[in-house]
Amino acid sequence: MRITSTRLSDGRELRYYDEDSLPERTAVDERGLEPGSTEQGRMRFDALTGEWIAIAGHRQGRIFLPSAAECPLCPSSPGKLSEIPEESYRVAVFENRFPSFQSGGTEIPDTDRVPAWGEDLPAYGRCEVVAFSDDHTGSIASLDSAHMSLVMDAWIDRTRELGELPGVRFVFVFENRGAEIGVTLHHPHGQIYAYPYVPPWARGVLEQAARADLDGRPPLLADLVEAERASGERIVWQDEHWIAFVPYAARWPFEVQIHPVTDRSSLTDLTPAERESFCRFYPLLVRALDSLFDASLPYMSGWFQRPAHATEAEARDSRLFLRMVSNRRAADKLKVPAGSETLMGAFISDVPPEQAAERIRTTLESTS
Ligand SMILES: [Zn+2]
Repeated sequence: MRITSTRLSDGRELRYYDEDSLPERTAVDERGLEPGSTEQGRMRFDALTGEWIAIAGHRQGRIFLPSAAECPLCPSSPGKLSEIPEESYRVAVFENRFPSFQSGGTEIPDTDRVPAWGEDLPAYGRCEVVAFSDDHTGSIASLDSAHMSLVMDAWIDRTRELGELPGVRFVFVFENRGAEIGVTLHHPHGQIYAYPYVPPWARGVLEQAARADLDGRPPLLADLVEAERASGERIVWQDEHWIAFVPYAARWPFEVQIHPVTDRSSLTDLTPAERESFCRFYPLLVRALDSLFDASLPYMSGWFQRPAHATEAEARDSRLFLRMVSNRRAADKLKVPAGSETLMGAFISDVPPEQAAERIRTTLESTS
């Protein structure tokens, strides 16, 4: 695998991930964008929940569901210049032009301290776009395992590098797919956010893990994987490296977690055999999910992993896994988080997890 790092005309970084056999990437961004066209937003502290809210008003102007002819992630061609100067590519990662978090300024915010009311902080961090393929109509489901493995190389490279930036506390590798969940670009892509704090959901997992430790119970995440394996009811697939199941307390109509069998706390810890096995399975899973309703399934998918610059307890309690959720509950119905879910965070699930697991398992068997 070869990484080529270059700069777009406004100074943002662009990286290509290629097989060694492919020609060198030498194309130059000829759009002549103004340097520093991105601006840093601010973050406000919600004193009621202890959570940080990024206020990114400058993002309103971003492009919304462009046609293939105007797609910023399609490769460039004469007369049609995009974010990716090459005429073809395998996997490309670049800094988002409309970032919610940006490391441009020098000030690193202290997110551990409760600020005075009205004292906002720079939305420090980084937001990157991962273009999975140069095929506008593709998706994870259409990638072969060699191509998927370049996507994974990009995830691992970015986890390592962004996790080393001072002030970054969590590197979140994720994908939103489907207009039904607010995706503004159809081109197959994921994102990476490097947050200046440990985001609430990850912090909640770590708090539960610390509580298990304090109570003298077995390590939370390893124990959970063991319990799902022993029960077997919700497993949709497993091999010697990974186990995929619908979680016991799933909150969305379709929800799958994929855990490594062996303790790994970060994408950077995976062995070549673990990577290879994941890259064979994951596109198959997406293909199976797409055939549940004869229409591509809207989903959100993202990795929980060890925080960057982890404390001793965070390093002890972190265990890598992928969490994937869909809001589709029937061919023509979406689960919309309403009052209980949105205002109170109290989820009511419409689909029993065992039924969802059975459907996914059966579909997976018939599509692979
Ligand atoms: Zn495109």
